[in-house]
Formats: sequence, C-alpha cells, structure tokens
Amino acid sequence: MKALVTGGSRGIGRAVALRFARQGWDVAITYRSKREAAEETLRLGGDEGGVLIAKKLDVRDSDAVDRVVDEVIGELDGLDVVVNNAGIMENQAAAMMSDEAWESVIATNLTGPFFVCRAVLTHFLMQRFGRIVNLSSVAQDGSAGQANYAASKAGLVGLTKSLAQEYGPRGITANAVAPGLIETEMTAEVTAEVRERWVELCPAGRLGSAEEVAEAVWSLSRREASFINGAVLHVSGGF
Ligand code: NAP
Repeated sequence: MKALVTGGSRGIGRAVALRFARQGWDVAITYRSKREAAEETLRLGGDEGGVLIAKKLDVRDSDAVDRVVDEVIGELDGLDVVVNNAGIMENQAAAMMSDEAWESVIATNLTGPFFVCRAVLTHFLMQRFGRIVNLSSVAQDGSAGQANYAASKAGLVGLTKSLAQEYGPRGITANAVAPGLIETEMTAEVTAEVRERWVELCPAGRLGSAEEVAEAVWSLSRREASFINGAVLHVSGGF
C-alpha cells in the first residue's frame, strides 16, 4: 500500500508514518516548517523497508496541495491511503478570540483536509479504491476555550461522513479518528490543571500516546477495512 500522511514530522503523524512503514507500506509525509523533524521521521522509518519521502507543504495553500499530491503519486507510483493529520490549536475564550485565531485554525484543520481530499479523489476514483482517514478530536463535541478548534474538528467529521456517502459506492472509504488528550508537542502547553481534570474523567486514568492513535489510524487504512465507512473511532481511553 502507498500512503500520504500530512504533518508527519512529529507527534501523531510521525507515529502513523512509522506504523505504516512497519507494515512495509511506502509512505510520503508532509511538514510545514520543521524540516529536521521530518528528516528524523524518515530516519526512524528507514529501516522498515518501505519508501519514505518528505515534502514541505502548507495545507492551507490549495495550489501547493495539488502540486504535492501529484508529486507524491508520481514518486510513489500510486497512492491508496491519505491521512489528514496536520493540525493546530490556538486556544482563546470565544468572546476574546481574534479573527486570526479563528481563521488559521479553520484553514489548517478543516479547509486544508478538504483541499487534500479533493486532490486525491481524482486518483482514487480512477483506481476505484482509496482510504481517507481524518484526524478529528473528542473536542468535536464542544470544548470550552477551543471554539475554533472544536468547530474545525466537528466540521471535519461532517466532511468525512459526506465523502463516505458520496464515494462509498466507488470503493473509497472515509473515516475519522477522534483522539482524546495525547502526549505530543501540541499538548505540551496544556496546563497541569487541565491534565489533572482529564485524567480524573478518563476511565484509563492517563493521557494517550501517539502510537495508540496510530494503531487506530492503521486499522481504518487497511485494504481489509472495506466495510467501515463514515465511522468516527474514538481513541480516548473511554473519555
Ligand atoms: P503536533 O505534534 O503539533 O504536530 C502537528 C503537525 O502538523 C506537524 O507535523 C506540523 O508540521 C503540521 N502542521 C501544522 N500546521 C500545518 C500546516 N498549515 N500545513 C501543513 N502541516 C502543518 O500535533 P499532534 O498532537 O501530533 O496532532 C496531530 C493531529 O491530531 C492534529 O490534527 C490534532 O488536532 C489531532 N489531535 C491531537 C490531539 C492531542 O492531544 N495531541 C488530540 C486530538 C486530536 P511542522 O512540524 O513542520 O510544524
């Protein structure tokens, strides 16, 4: 299988790329600015046997998305799986939220994945096969101080389910994974108070790991996951 993982330079995206590589899949990752981190993902996945390539890409730029998707399909000689993982968080109380905080989060977490899905769909339709996995969040149900992030992740579920209905008849599945609080750079700034509250409310009694999320992404990306479509898989320790 051949896969594209956006935001594969670190965190969950890196764990997904390495999980795919461990499976012997050929994997392309993208990164926004942290080239050294992306190269570290390639190095870590290098021993696994598959082809790994890294491309600089800002998912907010639709022309760049089209170009990079074309390059990846050319260099991997095909594409079967796309994982929309690139995302950001910019928490502010809604009453005080800047236009920039709203727009950048929606553009990165929702519009970007739409651009990527649109770009890969032509190819998936031609081969009558494809797996789309989008990284949503438990915040899709609403999260105080995260109106922008929650709206982007709920919107991503709407996008996912629409694609599932539109392209399910053509051999393409679209599913979402909704992680809870996962230990990555994104959550490094989460306060001790929020972490403690999370741990109290989470039946698993801890934060999750990027590898645990990657396992769920992999399960939805497999060829054998052919009857799972439009699903939202929570990876939250039961939160
Ligand atoms: P992370 O460690 O902050 O990594 C974010 C990744 O996205 C990096 O590879 C970054 O590239 C890339 N990126 C950011 N903005 C981009 C843009 N405009 N264009 C292209 N790439 C961009 O995040 P994470 O914690 O692994 O989260 C991964 C995904 O899971 C996100 O969608 C996040 O919302 C979701 N999620 C995370 C958690 C959690 O608790 N961590 C929970 C639920 C959902 P650079 O390295 O080059 O900056």
